[in-house]
Amino acid sequence: MGQTSGPQIFAETTLAARRLERLSARIEAPGERSSLEVRTPVTDEAIGSVPACTANDVSAAVERARSAQSGWERATIDERAAILERFGDLVLDRREELLDLVQLETGKSRQHAVEEVLDVPLTCSYYAANGVSVLADADRSSAVPLAADATVTYDPVGVVGVISPWNYPLTLAMTDAVPALLAGNAVVCKPDERTPFIALALAELLAEAGLPAGLFQVVTGEGETVGPALVDEVDYVTFTGGTETGRTVAKQAGRNLIGCSLELGGKNPMLVLDDADIETAARGAVKGAFTNAGQLCLAPERIYVDEHRYDEFLDAFVGATRRLELGLEFEYGPAVGSLIDDDHLESVREFVDDAVENGASLLSGGRSRPDVGPFCYEPTILTDVDPDSRVACEETFGPVVSVHAVSSVDEAIERANDSEYGLNASVWTADRKRGRAVAREIDCGTVCVNDPYTVGWAAIDAPMGGFGDSGLGRRHGPEGLKRYVDVRTIATSRIGPMDAPPGISPRWFARFMFGLTAVQRRLARWLP
Ligand code: NDP
Repeated sequence: MGQTSGPQIFAETTLAARRLERLSARIEAPGERSSLEVRTPVTDEAIGSVPACTANDVSAAVERARSAQSGWERATIDERAAILERFGDLVLDRREELLDLVQLETGKSRQHAVEEVLDVPLTCSYYAANGVSVLADADRSSAVPLAADATVTYDPVGVVGVISPWNYPLTLAMTDAVPALLAGNAVVCKPDERTPFIALALAELLAEAGLPAGLFQVVTGEGETVGPALVDEVDYVTFTGGTETGRTVAKQAGRNLIGCSLELGGKNPMLVLDDADIETAARGAVKGAFTNAGQLCLAPERIYVDEHRYDEFLDAFVGATRRLELGLEFEYGPAVGSLIDDDHLESVREFVDDAVENGASLLSGGRSRPDVGPFCYEPTILTDVDPDSRVACEETFGPVVSVHAVSSVDEAIERANDSEYGLNASVWTADRKRGRAVAREIDCGTVCVNDPYTVGWAAIDAPMGGFGDSGLGRRHGPEGLKRYVDVRTIATSRIGPMDAPPGISPRWFARFMFGLTAVQRRLARWLP
């Protein structure tokens, strides 16, 4: 039990209204500013407020970040890694408060909040251990090996803007910020206006870990004001959110000629093959479709099951789903929490109602649960869904999944690929080799075998991102670090200008160069 100042909800947590006021005070927005009220989906009460930053506030934050960045760039990568490792330790030490804050801001269940907290120290450790080798100067071959050489160097781009959504406010603020900082950049983060306190708590922990002032700043406010202002000031922008907003960000980044990575929506397929272990696949479907009440960009929303296993799968999946417990307690127990707000609840409801009106059968859920929480909605399974209905084509981003029988693996692959999106998919089979072969046929940035999404996300060494409308660029792995650096080639000649030496006619020089090229091409074919 914590303090009781402010709304009664704080009594269930380690937090208090005064704590959130202190976090809000971290935002540098001097003078008169309107403020944005932050409400908890757990009870729909106001829990605090943050300044609605203006374009000038964003400019000032980026200027502060820019002046701090020059010193940070000069620190060794090991010094930067040590601070990020300390930050990872602090996140683990303060996990109870962070779990409470994630639950308070998002309404997700505690077990799903755990995934967010665990992700940060893992990301810190990965980049601390691998950053040096990824960013070390690299020798590359030259066209004329004995006469010249080439070296590639990697320098930070400067200030990186991180625009993050509300569904995983802790993970998605940090997973892109950590490699940016490790590479020697400063970061200005714009969290979703519904979930600003987590980003501010992380800024506090980074400062406590020893990150110099100005290197990680948070600007709060409405996306349509703060987002474009940030993209106009930074040297690179990494965005996680909806596809339409992603297009707007990409357009602006293109106009400013800065790099961007976009992690967008998905309509993720799950393929259950004829040899799958059905209990395992049903367990995976429950985890995939209903984690964070389905508000997960990687969640399966379409399940294709071999027709010979369809009834068996539905029995197991529907049974396990009906046993799920909804709840909003700040402790381990209930598996499924709340949707983020009333608008989103309404949107999810419309998707399901539209599907049912168009002939879909409801095997589980399909109704909101105000008795549990103001925005709770039951985990919902649909069959007989019209392939052209909204629920079949558009991202629902809620606890709603449709199940379809297919007559062959080829049909499953064809239907999985019949989407503008291409973020994440999963294949379920007793034969992992077969699973990997099917995975290669699926047009998605990540395909997991016998797991809905965790195995792909947690492979931090491997890149993650989307095909098609699901995004551009990759986070995680070396690719996730290299997007934040300017790449420079330094090429050196040992023989002066690469031209005919004095006294050699252009005809003889050309003959020599053609001969040399022929030898080099032959060698390149013979040598491994
Ligand atoms: P939005 O695109 O609405 O918002 C995402 C972020 O962008 C928020 O911080 C928002 O601020 C900000 N924003 C809003 N307008 C602009 C603008 N014009 N310029 C710059 N930034 C702006 O996303 P949703 O809230 O709908 O988030 C859910 C979406 O995110 C889903 O489609 C989901 O699939 C996707 N997502 C993708 C992930 C991935 O890794 N691929 C992971 C998680 C989610 P504010 O809200 O404060 O106005």
